[in-house]
Amino acid sequence: MSTIAFLNIPLHGHVNPTLPVVAELVRRGHRVTYYTSPAFSKEIEATGATVFLYPGGDQPLPDPPMPVTMLDGLAGAAVGLLPAVLSDLRRERPDLIVHGAACPWGAVAARELRVPAASTFTTFAFNRSAPSPTGASWALLAQAATRPRNVGSYLRSRWTLSRRYAARGLPLFDLANVRQPLNLVFTSRVFQPLAEVLDESYRFVGPSLGARLPDPAFPGDLLRDPVLYVSLGTVFDAAPSLLRTFASALAPLGGTTIISTGHTDPAALGPLPDNVLAHRFVPQTEVLARAALFVTHGGMNSVNEAMYAGVPMLVVPQGADQPLVAGRVVELGAGLSMRTGDVTEESVRGLARSLLDEPRFQVASAAMQLAQREAGGYARAVDELEQYLHRIGEAAPRASRRER
Ligand code: UDP
Repeated sequence: MSTIAFLNIPLHGHVNPTLPVVAELVRRGHRVTYYTSPAFSKEIEATGATVFLYPGGDQPLPDPPMPVTMLDGLAGAAVGLLPAVLSDLRRERPDLIVHGAACPWGAVAARELRVPAASTFTTFAFNRSAPSPTGASWALLAQAATRPRNVGSYLRSRWTLSRRYAARGLPLFDLANVRQPLNLVFTSRVFQPLAEVLDESYRFVGPSLGARLPDPAFPGDLLRDPVLYVSLGTVFDAAPSLLRTFASALAPLGGTTIISTGHTDPAALGPLPDNVLAHRFVPQTEVLARAALFVTHGGMNSVNEAMYAGVPMLVVPQGADQPLVAGRVVELGAGLSMRTGDVTEESVRGLARSLLDEPRFQVASAAMQLAQREAGGYARAVDELEQYLHRIGEAAPRASRRER
């Protein structure tokens, strides 16, 4: 049995799909350590992994959340965290490091310790048809021109990384998209744009969904069908007026409307119709299993989870890769998309009615549900990791013979 070290950035979208993978590795007898921040330690401990905390407590999100601030934040975090991470990992001596694609310090640690690594992708595997929002592009350059401080601090951190560590192999810019010889992508091949141009290192294991910590505060027994669910995710601020418009657009369509308000205080939405529940955070996979419609920002995890549950979507992208994700949902017929600026009570209700009433959306969502389930999920991800460990183990004696 092996010792496997997970390193990740502490965001729900990046951590969630790894949790069932870790639980399954532990169930199969591996020892797993997981580096995270205090906000995530409880749910990671529940998988059976040993939690290591990053120094400095919970880190603030890049503000505002945009590619340039994200890259600056990642490079700075790598410089700040690596001394502690490396000293722990030298003690732990893992056989394999599994890091989030947006966790460059995981890749640097693997190189420093000469440990094989795998990367986890909670977005698309980016390519020319689905360009990475943090990859070199004219759009990134234009954004950089408006944020000179972030650019300066990014370049300083990037330089420090190269000087102090074995940072060869890290992308020069796109630190949110770090690949390895094995890349686990948590969506189906069908959903990935231009999957045929990607090499064998990418394994489309589909959504990795497993038991999450129960939420006793959520009144699941009060829900009435059809359940209509709204969430703009955990990273972007949702304006109270926008969430309120969704509530008043959907409430007349019957059943229960659930609004996950994220950073926004539910009280800021003001008085809501009786059949609307507004909570900061809801058990999303449980809610989707009951839902007839999902109004989402198009976060990749949310969309994967909705497809897994066969729920048609109205995607209202807020930034990052969400416009790409929205485009793919529409292309495959599993939902509709609209811009935030076009959101009115009437426009949302009209599109929601189409999604609920037109059979074509049910048909496409059922096809995506099948593809998502057939991809194999966390069990396939663990099979891939074990096969990788096996291949490394077979190659190691030959490599050491060569070294001698
Ligand atoms: N999530 C949840 N309850 C909520 C809101 C979000 O459980 O009320 C989970 C959701 O299931 C998903 C993750 O948080 O796994 C959000 O990730 P996503 O990539 O969709 O969006 P992000 O929050 O990163 O923008």
